[in-house]
Amino acid sequence: MNTKFVCTGFGEVYYKETETTRCIKCNEPVELEELNNGTIDYGKTDYSLSRYRSFYPWLNLDKEFTLGEGFTPLVPVEMPYGRIYIKNESINPTWSFKDRGTITGVLWASKINMKAIGTVSTGNMAASVAAYGAKAGMETVIFVKEEMPAEKLGPITVYGARVIKVKGDYGELYKKSIELGRREGIYFINSDSPFRVEGYKTIAFEIFEQLGNKVPDFVIVPVSAGGNIRGIEKGFRELKASGYTDKMPKFVAVQARGCNPIERGFLKGEMEIERVTKPDTIAHAIENPFPPSGNQTLRLIKRTGGTVISVDDSEILNSQGMLARRGLFVQTASAASETAAEKLINRGIIKPEDIVVCIATASGLKFTEALKYQKSRVESINLEELQDLTLD
Ligand SMILES: *Cc1c(COP(=O)(O)O)cnc(C)c1O
Ligand SMILES: [Zn+2]
Repeated sequence: MNTKFVCTGFGEVYYKETETTRCIKCNEPVELEELNNGTIDYGKTDYSLSRYRSFYPWLNLDKEFTLGEGFTPLVPVEMPYGRIYIKNESINPTWSFKDRGTITGVLWASKINMKAIGTVSTGNMAASVAAYGAKAGMETVIFVKEEMPAEKLGPITVYGARVIKVKGDYGELYKKSIELGRREGIYFINSDSPFRVEGYKTIAFEIFEQLGNKVPDFVIVPVSAGGNIRGIEKGFRELKASGYTDKMPKFVAVQARGCNPIERGFLKGEMEIERVTKPDTIAHAIENPFPPSGNQTLRLIKRTGGTVISVDDSEILNSQGMLARRGLFVQTASAASETAAEKLINRGIIKPEDIVVCIATASGLKFTEALKYQKSRVESINLEELQDLTLD
């Protein structure tokens, strides 16, 4: 089946991917045409993408590139203010939701006979692309910032990918990488590229099934580039268009107070984000000062009746601790979704009876520096004192 791309801004149609993966007229990101005849294959239980493959008619799943991404648990959690559901993406092969979009990107790269794949990233996406490049047996090139510390490089280089540190402007690097890709035949699966966004739809399909074929009232997503929230929204949109439901969830984008370009646009009542000049937050995975899919995030939030909220680092750390004390150790950026749930419930925007799903985007073990801010209960005793030990 042929691919058709639609500009998320004004609906301009393209029949092949544009070089920049954006609309040539308005520079907004494009997406694959909305599908209205997807069916869930209940017989398929081996891995997520195969169960929902009819929502990907242009992909060929014969290539066994899966590492077992998806099918992550939806965990009900009792908080002081009520019950929420945590979609625990830390269960993925490289411990973040990025794997869902990496596999669709790699499958597409292979289908169009690209010899190599690549990405521009400093964290979870780099590790994910490196891992799937290794599985697919494709040469993999990862561009990172010059100042990347060695302990962050290790989890990327271990997969055997070629990692290149680049001195200079990060935004320019993004553009130059696409030029290089064209020249050398490297398919770049960057943060909001259309085939990556498609992979994130499976989060919506799974939530729908895990709630007993129900659409939640709110989906809360920590947003950086905007790829994840776009994919989840498109997944629910296609479930609706395919006749599974007539409801859409309201979407909430969560940002850190120290890096809130989407919230700034939202508060001004404009449909355009506002660049942040000095981003500063402990939630590094959502520290993008000028998100490439920021405007589309604003549009989808407006369309679904949702909102944008930013949260402080201290609140994020508090949420990280609260979730850990309920058995879920997630990354700082991920914990921000719980902070947002609490605030919106307190403000009455979310009602106590609403079904709320927070996307926990990655594992806490990927960023252990944050642990120094968490309480611990370590005691030391001699063996002989054990006989006197009692419970609190
Ligand atoms: C990538 C990432 C995000 C942000 O996702 P976008 O698609 O860039 O909006 C949030 N949390 C974690 C842990 C991530 O790795
Ligand atoms: Zn356009």
